[in-house]
Order: sequence, then C-alpha cells, then structure tokens
Amino acid sequence: MDQTDLIILEKAIQKLKLGFDSFPDSLTENNQKRIEEIILNVAERLQNNYPYFQPNYAGQMLKPPHAIARIAYMLSLYINPNNHALDGGMESSKMEKEVIVKLAAMFGWQNSLGHLTSGGTFANLEALWIAGKLHPNKKIVASELAHYTHQRISSVLGLSFEQVESDQSGKMDMGCLEKILSNGDVGTVVVTFGTTGIGSIDPMTEILELQKKYHFRIHIDAAYGGYYVLADNLSANTKEQYSLMTKADSIVIDPHKHGLQPYGCGCILFKNPEVGQFYKHDSPYTYFSSDELHLGEISLECSRAGASAVGLWATIEMFPLFKKGEFAKNLENCHLAAIKLYQLILTDNKLIPLLEPELDIVVWAVKASTLSKISKISNQIFHLAAKKYNLHLALINYPTKLLNSDWNNVDKDANYVTCLRSCLMKPEHLDFVDELWAILEKCKGEVESI
Ligand SMILES: *Cc1c(COP(=O)(O)O)cnc(C)c1O
Repeated sequence: MDQTDLIILEKAIQKLKLGFDSFPDSLTENNQKRIEEIILNVAERLQNNYPYFQPNYAGQMLKPPHAIARIAYMLSLYINPNNHALDGGMESSKMEKEVIVKLAAMFGWQNSLGHLTSGGTFANLEALWIAGKLHPNKKIVASELAHYTHQRISSVLGLSFEQVESDQSGKMDMGCLEKILSNGDVGTVVVTFGTTGIGSIDPMTEILELQKKYHFRIHIDAAYGGYYVLADNLSANTKEQYSLMTKADSIVIDPHKHGLQPYGCGCILFKNPEVGQFYKHDSPYTYFSSDELHLGEISLECSRAGASAVGLWATIEMFPLFKKGEFAKNLENCHLAAIKLYQLILTDNKLIPLLEPELDIVVWAVKASTLSKISKISNQIFHLAAKKYNLHLALINYPTKLLNSDWNNVDKDANYVTCLRSCLMKPEHLDFVDELWAILEKCKGEVESI
C-alpha cells in the first residue's frame, strides 16, 4: 500500500470505533466481491478525466483538496453527520461554528453570522435573499464580469437586476454604477473580489464613497478570491481593496475553490447577526445568538454534509488562516506564478496579455490582424497543447469593447475574442511556469506553420 493517507485513515477509523458499540465496517463475503468488481469498474471509468491535481492542468479553476481534507472527509463518512441540526451532527456542527469564526476573522469580523453551504451559488443566493428581504422593491446590480449566477439568482428570487458595465481594466465601471445609482432604486451592489474569468477585483474604495451618497447594501462575491485577503504580495491597490472587505454587509467565500476542500463547500457570512431573524421558522430571534444554535435555523438548505465542516476544520488546524503562514505563502506563490507567466508573455512581441493578473489568472492571445484570427489561433493552441503536450489550458471569450489600447492595431471584426486562460491555483505552478512557457512556445511555432 503506497497510499499513506489510507494508513492514517485506517488508524483514525480504529480510534473512531472506540466511541461506539458497533461500526458500519463489515462487508459480507458476497457483497465484498461485488463491491470490488463495481468499484474497479468505477476506477477505470474515472481514468477518463484530465489530471486536475497535476501542475500541467493549468486551465479551469480546479485545485485538489489537500490530503488532510480528504482523510477527514472520508473518516466522517463512517458517521455521516448532517449539519442541519445539532442532533444530526453534534461535533461537526461545533466544528462548523469554529471554522465560520475563523473565516469571518480573516475579514476582521467578530460577531457575524454565517454557515457553510453546498457551494458559492447557494451562498450567493442566501446573500441576495437577505438583500431582497431588507430592500424588497429595490434592484440588485453586479458588473458585467461578475458571475452569471447573480442575474439568475435575482430572477429566482423575483428581484430586479441590472448589469453594470465593466471598464477596460476588467473592473466595475464607476461612472456607469453612479448613473444607475442616481435613479435611487438600487438596494444592493454585488462587488466581485476575483472575477471568475480574469480574477479582477472591483474598486471597493470608490464603491464605498458612492455608498455614502446612495446608501446601498454591499455584498462581496469573493467565492474565488476571498482567501487572497491573507496574501502579502498583491499590488498596493489590490491590497487596499482587500483591506476594505471588512466594510461589506455580506461575503461569500468558497473553501472548495482556494481553500483546499473537496466540492460541496461554500460559505456565506453576514456582518450583522440580526439578519438571522429572516431565516426564522419556529424559533424566537434570541435563539440565533445562543451557543446552542442549530445551523439549520440560519440556513436555507436543510440537510448539509457534516463531512464538509470536518474536512475544513481539519484543514484549518493544519493551515491556520494567518498572514505569512504556510497557507498564505502558498497563495502568494500562485500570484507569483501568474506574474511570472505574465512577464514572459510581455517579452514576446507576438503575444498580447489581456491585463496584468491581480490574483492568479492569466489571460493572453497570439497576435494576428483580426479578432477572429486570434480566436482561431487560441483554439488551435488550446487543443494542440492538450493533445500533444498534455498541457491543459482554458479558453475565455472576452468582450471586444473591454479590450484596452494594446489591441488598437487589431481589426475588431467580432464582438468578442477567444483568448487562452490559465488559473495558476496550485503552489507548484510557480516552478512549473518555465515548462508551461516552453510548451507554449512550441505550440505557437507549430500553429504558425499550420
Ligand atoms: C465559482 C464562483 C461562483 C459560483 O460558485 P460555485 O461554488 O461554483 O457554486 C460565484 N461567484 C464567483 C466569483 C465564482 O468564482
């Protein structure tokens, strides 16, 4: 057995067993055979995936869960706690409350209310649901590069939604925002920290200035970028925006994106715990601030995996959420990897970077006379890199009107341009950038000669 994580898991199962008279472990001889047969078939089928956990997977937002999260999650499956109510997941509910306190503390919040969710979508849904309760007849606005989920969620909630244009730096356009605000019907501005496409951060400094005049609620969607609040090496302007996250009313962060967790782990945080009253079904408000809070009383989802809380709790024990800690350093290395790739792109006059990466997402293209030719080359490189060199990148369709002056000499013959995109989310990516670059150079040469 060379999977040492299974050795630890086995030890932990023995320990867990001591707490119970019996344990759900024994397979009968009959079903053991059948289970093995099916599981081996599953293993074969699962070979049909990209190598998400390797550095040469440098495409979409995928980051492997840390071994500690995997082991803790698997261990808790033998109990299968349900964090809907204390009765269903006694210790895992406590763990959930503990991790919520730690996540909120990253943003300087102390008496906030929050819980884990199945993911960022549901967490954002809860944030906008509360926003709608507080401002029932007012609009939700989010930038053009915000996650598409906000528009859809608003529609599910029956709230009106308006898109704010983005500017050529990929951030919410302040002129456009103020124009919309001046109609007086905006209840909540969704501010994105780490847009899914390019990792840009909306200008919180200026949004807070506008808030003084127009009095809206601020919801920060930091599903992707939230943990970067711990990083020390971002640009001065980006760091300033992060330092202002504390002024938001609600924040979404996804432990299953940058927090080393398996899928099924998002988080919603509300600065003011009194919003708990909107979740109320049977219980009086005082219930919400008592130590014996049932998480089901402050969550729209009922049954939720206690295993997610256990996995996250164990991970945070190992990697405390501190600036300059190991976890923070690993994020800093992801940003460094992105900057390194960006600088290599700048050295090559046949390439155009989209923007300097604020976090760890790099977007670029090979120069050509028209946007449609550029799009075609991006597609070719994307396929060639994967097929021939086992390098997995991603593509993004970027709106033409958001392209900056670097693109002045390109004929704008389409409404969008397809660029190459790479999420350098793994700390190993820093060492991998040179290899990635070498493969890109080869692909570029081969595509040019096609
Ligand atoms: C990923 C993401 C979401 C959606 O979260 P899921 O966990 O995929 O449901 C929302 N907003 C942003 C900015 C994201 O990056």
